[in-house]
Amino acid sequence: MSTGHPVAEVAVRGPLETLAFDREHLWHPYTSMTEPTPVRLVTGADGCELTLGDGTRVVDGMSSWWAAIHGYGHPALDRAVVDQVGRFSHVMFGGLTHAPAVELGRRLVELTPDALERVFLADSGSVSVEVAMKMVVQYQRGVGRPERTRMLTVLGGYHGDTFDCMSVTDPVGGMHTMWAGLLPEQVFGPQPPRHDAGDAEVAAWAAAFRAVAERHAPELAGIIVEPLLQGAGGMHPYPAACLEVFREVADEHGLVLVFDEIATGFGRTGHLFVSELVTPDILCLGKALTGGYVSLAAVVTTDAVARGISGSESGVVMHGPTFMGNPLACAVASASIDLLLAGEWRRDVARINAALTGGLAPLRRRPGVRDVRTIGAVGVVQLDHPVDVVAATDAALGAGVWLRPFRDLIYTMPPYVIGDAELDRLVHGITAAVASQ
Ligand SMILES: *Cc1c(COP(=O)(O)O)cnc(C)c1O
Repeated sequence: MSTGHPVAEVAVRGPLETLAFDREHLWHPYTSMTEPTPVRLVTGADGCELTLGDGTRVVDGMSSWWAAIHGYGHPALDRAVVDQVGRFSHVMFGGLTHAPAVELGRRLVELTPDALERVFLADSGSVSVEVAMKMVVQYQRGVGRPERTRMLTVLGGYHGDTFDCMSVTDPVGGMHTMWAGLLPEQVFGPQPPRHDAGDAEVAAWAAAFRAVAERHAPELAGIIVEPLLQGAGGMHPYPAACLEVFREVADEHGLVLVFDEIATGFGRTGHLFVSELVTPDILCLGKALTGGYVSLAAVVTTDAVARGISGSESGVVMHGPTFMGNPLACAVASASIDLLLAGEWRRDVARINAALTGGLAPLRRRPGVRDVRTIGAVGVVQLDHPVDVVAATDAALGAGVWLRPFRDLIYTMPPYVIGDAELDRLVHGITAAVASQ
């Protein structure tokens, strides 16, 4: 069928031409525009597999950056989007509301800890962190402490790519020296110890963290951390006991505690939310919120935070994105949450953990491997040198697996619905990637 429309022409272009245009004109994440590393063309995605331009199918070990927990093309999620398109795709959220946003809000209030009950819908994870940090400062102003403007965090974290997000991301990983003078200067405490650390090590860390908080208390507004697992900062799981310390320090000094669960939310660590262990004042959710279909994030706060903000000079949260509460995103998010709760995610995450823990353990003995660790549906192989990403990617693809290593880490966060045979293939892909180094 010829429509004469230019879009139809784009669709019939060959893969080589598509890739050539991409190479000349499209920026990819953290990739040089002038000397780009290769990108692969995806022509389809279903279940846990991506179909590449040459027709090969590979198991997706990344869940599209940790978001596609139900895999691709799930009928229930497809239907949620299509049904909502049939009603309306978007309306502004200023002065208007709609069932998809309200239904998602209901689910988030219901699912998250009891104290968290006020929901702000944002467009992406980074934006939700920006909103959370604005809320922290506005809260402090509202309760009469306008001098409290800085955030306390820990080394090794990652909170997004916008400027305020970078300011609380690890100073080395976030390349703070490159942005000197442009980033707000936040306060960094020590990185929590390894997940298998003993009590003495946890106590030593806690004492050091408390000391930093005490030193800076008069200027601190809040604490922001990724609870239990630091993700893009280094795939570093740490003891749950540290969460109690964050809560105690926040309470002791009147700080607002923010848990950034953009990566850990919706079951990834084996807890539906890590916030079930220790309740923060503000919770940021993103990534898997829509099952990986479309960008959406949420900031869920306590009533006390909402009331504090209402007492600030403006009385309102000073944020309101154009696409706030997008109905398509909200509809698919509710469908994804329903699917998660109706399914066997706990069993699946435990099954994935067992397969990765057993399958990756032998890699510990390989030369060049510094550490192998797992938590929930996350498996990590840390090398003692930076990964040659091109060689690792090629080796994994040769074994039928899509991986995207970074820094010294070859890791996986597969969709929860991954089958046992695909898990096997994933372990082989990681093994091949490690062997290529
Ligand atoms: C991915 C991530 C973000 C940023 O989310 P975007 O949707 O990429 O803006 C923030 N915090 C954490 C913990 C993340 O993993």
